[in-house]
Amino acid sequence: MTIKQAYSKIKAMFSEKGFDAPDFEALSLINYVTGFDRHSLIAHGENKLENSKEDFLFSLVQKRLSHIPLQYILGEWSFYGFDFTVGEGVLIPRDDTEVVVNLCLDFLKDRTDKKVIDLCAGSGAISVVLSKLADADVTAVELSEKAFEYLDKNIRSNNADVNAVKGDILSCYADFDDEKYDLIVSNPPYIKSEDIPTLQDEVQFEPEMALDGGVSGFDFYESIIENWSAKLKDGGALAFELGENQAEYVSALMKEKGFVNIRTELDLGGVRRAIIGTIMKK
Ligand code: GLN
Repeated sequence: MTIKQAYSKIKAMFSEKGFDAPDFEALSLINYVTGFDRHSLIAHGENKLENSKEDFLFSLVQKRLSHIPLQYILGEWSFYGFDFTVGEGVLIPRDDTEVVVNLCLDFLKDRTDKKVIDLCAGSGAISVVLSKLADADVTAVELSEKAFEYLDKNIRSNNADVNAVKGDILSCYADFDDEKYDLIVSNPPYIKSEDIPTLQDEVQFEPEMALDGGVSGFDFYESIIENWSAKLKDGGALAFELGENQAEYVSALMKEKGFVNIRTELDLGGVRRAIIGTIMKK
């Protein structure tokens, strides 16, 4: 089989299964196994695919057809232009989260000696980007053993100024100093428990712990606003990623706690995906 034939065959298999981006996914797997990109496929697609590579490629195709996320198969995914190692046990960085990062970068740009905490840090996507692009000193808190391994690896591979701490953000706030931080950011679990089984097949491979926000979906927002706000300096900011239809309630909670200048931001799909506010203590 030539590389081009493999491409057409895989694309057809993915199309038949109703995948959204069969050509992109076929090319991604071919690139992973052969090193061929779109250009080399056009120029040298008549090259024969070695038998061992063909077997390996189609074993990955079978995995993908069983709905294992492409990102887990590739073992790497990019976020905000940085590369992150991912795999079973850690939430895959999503494009939507870039909106949260934008709000944070905007807030941090006028500050000096920036101290940031990222709660429920997962793969470290937010932490790494803020440390690299805002030159911030970031503390990343993560509870899951497995996710922590990815977090640690991604901090090192990106050579980022991030201190990873293992802890349960619902209870470990007492270990952190009050009035010390410029920004607290979190992409917490925010799906309602009862909605988890309805999420797409791919998401079922991701850690439930990173998704399940309790009965209402708001457990982590309530706890963070209540228990972590004291860690912010006067004028410091709290930023969250939000699930669908969560902006209004989270905004109200923040207001009640003394946050002002609350702003939300839409993602590309038109969902109010991110929120930020600053706290006035005096
Ligand atoms: N954005 C993820 C999803 O919809 C959820 C991530 C989260 O709960 N923080 O699958």
